Amino acid sequence: MNRGFNFSAGPAAMPTEVLERAQEELLNWNGNGCSVMEFGHRTPEFEQLLDQTEADLRKLLNIPNHYRVLFMHGSASHQFAMVPMNFLAPGDTANYLEQAHWSKKAIKEAQNFAKIHVQRGFQQTDEGLAIVPESEWQLDDAGKYLHFTSNETIVGVQFKTEPEAFAGKLVCDMCSDILSRPIDIEKYALIYAGAQKNIGPSGMTVVIVREDLFEQMQTHRVPSLFQYPLMAQHKSMYNTPPSFGIYLASLVFEWLLEQGGVEAIEKANQQKAQLLYDAIDASIFYHSPVAKDSRSIMNVAFTLSNPELDSMFLKQAKEQGLLALKGHRDFGGMRASIYNAMSLQGVQTLVDFMREFERKV
Ligand SMILES: *Cc1c(COP(=O)(O)O)cnc(C)c1O
Repeated sequence: MNRGFNFSAGPAAMPTEVLERAQEELLNWNGNGCSVMEFGHRTPEFEQLLDQTEADLRKLLNIPNHYRVLFMHGSASHQFAMVPMNFLAPGDTANYLEQAHWSKKAIKEAQNFAKIHVQRGFQQTDEGLAIVPESEWQLDDAGKYLHFTSNETIVGVQFKTEPEAFAGKLVCDMCSDILSRPIDIEKYALIYAGAQKNIGPSGMTVVIVREDLFEQMQTHRVPSLFQYPLMAQHKSMYNTPPSFGIYLASLVFEWLLEQGGVEAIEKANQQKAQLLYDAIDASIFYHSPVAKDSRSIMNVAFTLSNPELDSMFLKQAKEQGLLALKGHRDFGGMRASIYNAMSLQGVQTLVDFMREFERKV
């Protein structure tokens, strides 16, 4: 079978060029005579790779020097607990926006550590699911931070810009749209993103955190590996880091820089999303459940007017090499995840298939 167009929400498609390069270098990385997977992390060669990976990420996201970059083991779900563990002392509180699936899990973990102020983040409108306007939010001013999910992967709802509130004190689950567009890092206390959507393989999470916050962190009861200050002090190498994940991330970052960086990739992402949403809106057979202003350019959810055709749609799509279009189990319908690595050609092929499917049924 040829390599298909992979619309998986995560683990998600990686750029083919990156995988080819990793394949080429797998047995003999950089002339070292072995794979990077088999290479000691406390070596000048690996440290150079780590430094370069961090430098490329800083360049891509324009990360100021007073922010630290950590390459941590584990997934975003680890961060759901690590953020409150590090930031909140007994008696402290924090604000959490409740937005469908992932933020609910983050809230549940945070509630193990402190009393959490929850603000509803999503609402149903005539046009579909939408972000509650910020003017209607009621936040607790005493909160140490405001946690939100920039792109809700399951339903395909995305913030177009950062919230105005809690500037400098935002904590963001940016798993599914990090590196898809420029962001204003200074608005954030901390950003975390599991690698498997826009960065690399699962099992690694990138954390960007403002360094001066370390002083106030509540680390005395936190296991070493979960302490942000300690991980930063050891440059992500308190223990063996996720070295193969770091290596693949380095190739992805290089690839992104070659594409022209996040400004260029944002344009490409918008073009891809527009093509798909236009096709959905132009048809009465396909329907987007999300209000226009809140639609994600990373995860495009849509339904067929007759759900009984879902399995036929998926089967025929797969036969054409259009993979993993099934919606999340909690939501149903379809979802096309079109992260950075998805080409315009892939989206065009999907749109052509959708038109043809509609015409035939
Ligand atoms: C995928 C995803 C997660 C969960 O990632 P895990 O690696 O499974 O913990 C959390 N938040 C968002 C927004 C996601 O897209």
